This record gives sequence, C-alpha cells and structure tokens, in this order.
Amino acid sequence: MDVLIIGQGLAGSWLSWWLERAGLSYRVIDDADPLSASRHAAGLINPVTGRRMVKTWMIDELMPFAWKAYHEMGQFLQTDLISETSVIDFFPTVQMLQAFQKRYSEDPSYLSPGINANQYNAWFHYDLGWGSIDPCYLVHTEKLLSAWRSHLLGKGYLREETFNMDKLVDKDPVYQYEGLNAHYIIFCDGKLSAGNKFFEKLPFALNKGEGLLVEIQEIPQTAVFKKGMSLVPWKDHIFWVGSSYQWEFSDDEPSENFLHTTENWMKNFLRVPYKIIDHFAAVRPATLERRPFAGFHPQYAGIGILNGLGTKGCSLAPYFAAQLAEKIAGHGVIDPLADIKRFQKILMK
Ligand SMILES: Cc1cc2nc3c(=O)[nH]c(=O)nc-3n(C[C@H](O)[C@H](O)[C@H](O)COP(=O)(O)OP(=O)(O)OC[C@H]3O[C@@H](n4cnc5c(N)ncnc54)[C@H](O)[C@@H]3O)c2cc1C
Repeated sequence: MDVLIIGQGLAGSWLSWWLERAGLSYRVIDDADPLSASRHAAGLINPVTGRRMVKTWMIDELMPFAWKAYHEMGQFLQTDLISETSVIDFFPTVQMLQAFQKRYSEDPSYLSPGINANQYNAWFHYDLGWGSIDPCYLVHTEKLLSAWRSHLLGKGYLREETFNMDKLVDKDPVYQYEGLNAHYIIFCDGKLSAGNKFFEKLPFALNKGEGLLVEIQEIPQTAVFKKGMSLVPWKDHIFWVGSSYQWEFSDDEPSENFLHTTENWMKNFLRVPYKIIDHFAAVRPATLERRPFAGFHPQYAGIGILNGLGTKGCSLAPYFAAQLAEKIAGHGVIDPLADIKRFQKILMK
C-alpha cells in the first residue's frame, strides 16, 4: 500500500480523495472524535475577515479551487457539499463601519454597501447599517464527513479505531502498523499532532471555539447574518451561532461563560424568538504564523503531515491536500509557505 492516513477530518478526507483520484492505494484510521474541529465547523468560506476587513490569504486562488473540488466530490457522492451565500455584516461599532468603508474605497472586491438600511429591521436590532460580503461559500461539512466515510467503509479502506504510535514500526522501505505496510504515513490528526512525537516541535497554537445550534423559525436562511458573532444557516430553521476564539484554555468543554455571553448577544441582536438546542466546543489546530503545515519530516522521509488548518480548514484542506497528493505521486510541489521544510532546523533538533 502507498499511504496510511491518520485522521478523517477535512484534512484526511481531502487527502484520501486526491490519492484515490491519482490511483494511489491508501487506508485511513480514524476514531471519529466527537469533539473534532471538522465536526463543529460552521463551514463558511469568507474572503474578507478581521478588524481591518482584509482579504484572507490566497483567497483568489482558494475559492475557485474549493468551489470546483467540493462540486466534484459532491457529484461523486451524490450529495450537495457546497453552496453560495453572502455575509450580511451589521457593523457592531463605528470602527468596523469605517473599516468597511475604507476597504471598499480602496478595493471593492467581494464587498457591497447595504443599499436599504432598513431591509433587515423586522428580524434584527442594528443602528450602524450593514454591508455585504459576496460571494461566500458554505461547505456542508457534516454531509461530507459522513458520505466520504461511508465510501471508505464500503471499500474497506477505513479502520474505525485509535491509532497507537507505539505500534508503528519502521521496516525500511515501509512502515508496518498492525498488519498494514505503507510507504508513507500521513498525520491528519488535527489538534493531536501538537503532541505527536514527530511533529510536536511545530509551532502549533491551538485555539478553542464554542458555538450554539439555535432554532429560529422567522429568519429566512438566505445569508449568514453577522454582528461581531455570526448566525450561519445550518439545517431547516436551525442556525449555527458563534464563535469564540480562545488562545488560552484549560479544557475543551462548553463553558457557562460562552453560553451566558452568547445568550445576551442574541437577546440584543434578535427581534424574534429563538430556542437553543445545542452548545458545543472544539479545538482548532491553529498555528502561530497562521499558515498550514504540509509535507514530509526532514529526518523520516516517509512520515508526513497535513495540519495547521486553523480557522480556515474548509478552503485550505482541498487545496493543500491536492498539493500533498501530487507530491506523493511524484510530480508536485508544496507551496513553500505551507511546506514544513521551513521548520527543518526545529524538526531536526
Ligand atoms: C467552532 C469552530 C468553527 C469553525 N468554523 C469554520 C468555518 O466556518 N470555516 C472554516 O474553514 N473552518 C472552520 N473551523 C476550522 C476547521 O474546523 C478546521 O480547520 C478543520 O476542521 C481541521 O480539520 P482537520 O482534519 O485538520 O482536524 P480534525 O477535524 O480535528 O480531524 C482530526 C481527525 O483525526 C482523528 N484522530 C485524531 N487522532 C487520532 C488517532 N490517534 N487515531 C485515530 N483517529 C485520530 C479524529 O477523530 C478526527 O476525525 C472551525 C473550527 C471550530 C472549532
């Protein structure tokens, strides 16, 4: 076998997809951690983010790539995995209103000022107007993970268990693991790579995020509605609401503090009734310099990684998984800004 992949979140799903397209043989080991980031992501690909409303890294390349890739996988799995949407951005402060206006005057790409200030008055309280970010994409992550998992199970390519590093044996030129022989072992194990003996020296900066699922009957699910936090269309009449970004945390559990703050936010923002139906937390595999980790360990040529997708797994995973798969197939190059070659010295210590 060519490749053994550890983890079937967005990273492992996309890597196995591209390996299969390239005709390479692979297996996946995944223990379906209910707290994994991919299982709780809102699924939003938003080209303009942050206090200064900057275009996100490589977005002009990542968006068309993602659109095509999710459509192709969706067609193969006979389900819709991506849809187009917009973010209606209600300015929470005068500074954010000014940031939007400044960005729009310098570079209007992806931005439109809100023409009718009162358009959303029936549903929301807002007094500084709104603008829209358009197009954005919504990835249906839950569908992707379960449909691709069924495909893997159907082929006999997935072992539903926890990978145990102590059982991995280097039998040059292959690695052996519990009856499997693979030329490459690729870790797509999310937050756990930060404690993985091959990759723990990489500058991970794990980030906890919490969110709610909220039933709101009266608001149409035509866009993402944002005022600091976001209401993201999820399923019929249910919105994903979040999120927090915590760099320091002592556990990965949902907290009273987030629930309290978010309920207050909803009371102030919404003019219509709502019902909270779930509260969750998950840890994003983020990195100090906010760039992904892709490629091979400088000391162990068959050991690789696709990780560090941070807050942007939906757009980064298909693109960098494709680069890694091509590299494994012997004819590709990983973008130097994502390639873990940049940490060669640290990883060799
Ligand atoms: C609250 C929240 C909201 C988010 N919203 C968005 C968003 O709107 N848009 C966006 O682009 N990104 C978003 N993200 C980020 C996105 O979720 C991540 O970037 C992405 O899911 C990371 O995927 P991954 O495959 O690297 O890791 P994970 O999703 O953590 O997957 C790792 C997988 O590996 C398995 N695994 C780990 N260790 C082992 C082992 N030893 N043996 C077997 N299996 C193992 C786990 O079970 C899991 O299935 C959000 C994240 C959070 C937490």
